[in-house]
Amino acid sequence: MTVSSARHGLVQMSCFSASRVFLILLLIVGTCFSPRAYGVALDTYSHLELSPISASSAGLHVTFLGVATILFDDGETAIMTDGFFTRPNLISVATKKISPNREIIAKSLEHAGVKRLAAVLVTHSHYDHAMDSPEVAMRTGAVVVGSESTANIARGWGLPEDRIISVKNDQNLKFGRFEVTFVRSEHAPTNLAKGEITKRLVPPVRAIEYRDGGSYAILIKHDGKTILVQSSAGIASGALHGKKADVVFLGVGLLGKQRASYRDQYWNEVVREVGAHRVIPIHWDDFSRSLDEPLVPIPWPFDDLKKALTFLSERGSAEGVDVKLAPSWKAIDPFDGLP
Ligand SMILES: [Zn+2]
Repeated sequence: MTVSSARHGLVQMSCFSASRVFLILLLIVGTCFSPRAYGVALDTYSHLELSPISASSAGLHVTFLGVATILFDDGETAIMTDGFFTRPNLISVATKKISPNREIIAKSLEHAGVKRLAAVLVTHSHYDHAMDSPEVAMRTGAVVVGSESTANIARGWGLPEDRIISVKNDQNLKFGRFEVTFVRSEHAPTNLAKGEITKRLVPPVRAIEYRDGGSYAILIKHDGKTILVQSSAGIASGALHGKKADVVFLGVGLLGKQRASYRDQYWNEVVREVGAHRVIPIHWDDFSRSLDEPLVPIPWPFDDLKKALTFLSERGSAEGVDVKLAPSWKAIDPFDGLP
């Protein structure tokens, strides 16, 4: 190593340390101030919240459980997207190795009334989507379905190979009366944890080791109606061409930070393309906070939920698309009041 390359290395290391300290400070500031700063913004949109349905009512029950974790239960079969409950705090994510928390996962499944699941459908392999999926599958008898990177997360946690399905684009699967299609999608613009997980991932590991592994949008058809779950605000031009969905659970994480033209294109490629009648924003909550507390938005400077919701409400009212928020941990009928 030359003197100049050694110096370059030191400069890189000190830049890395300084940027990490700055990041941690931002996280602490954001975490401390977010509930007050954004509580107002959420209250502003409380009129958008869909009404819960009674637990004993017939038909499909859909329950939003934070980030992109959604439970679909028709009384005979239940499936879940992502299945993320551990939600390690920001200091842990920034400075330590992380791992699924069995106790939190067990408590969360019990709270959501989940005993059996046919499948955990994972949209991509970042930790806030995929980390807990194999533990959720182990506790509920489910298979884990997702990218090869997600499969490597499941293998690393010890889920048997016959309970792991590594999907391909446009692959269809059937679980009871649910017909599920995985459509290759894109992640919201970010440089964090890109790439594939190419071998078994055995936690505890750094959050950054949960590489995205490619994103999927998931179409869930049930008794003639279709729901699209688009967990991340990424644009895959033409990917959903020819697909139809009545309701879109639409990932809005980072959407408020994008250019107006990006938001337009995202709406056109996802919501307008599938002819949706209703949009339900997801992935808006601060996933560094425990599920023991009410969900609060991802704090500034990391996101701008108000801008995203204002955009969606305006586009929705201009195009006759109902934009509603789902109450967390309470089942809704996502098709209620739709044609
Ligand atoms: Zn992600």
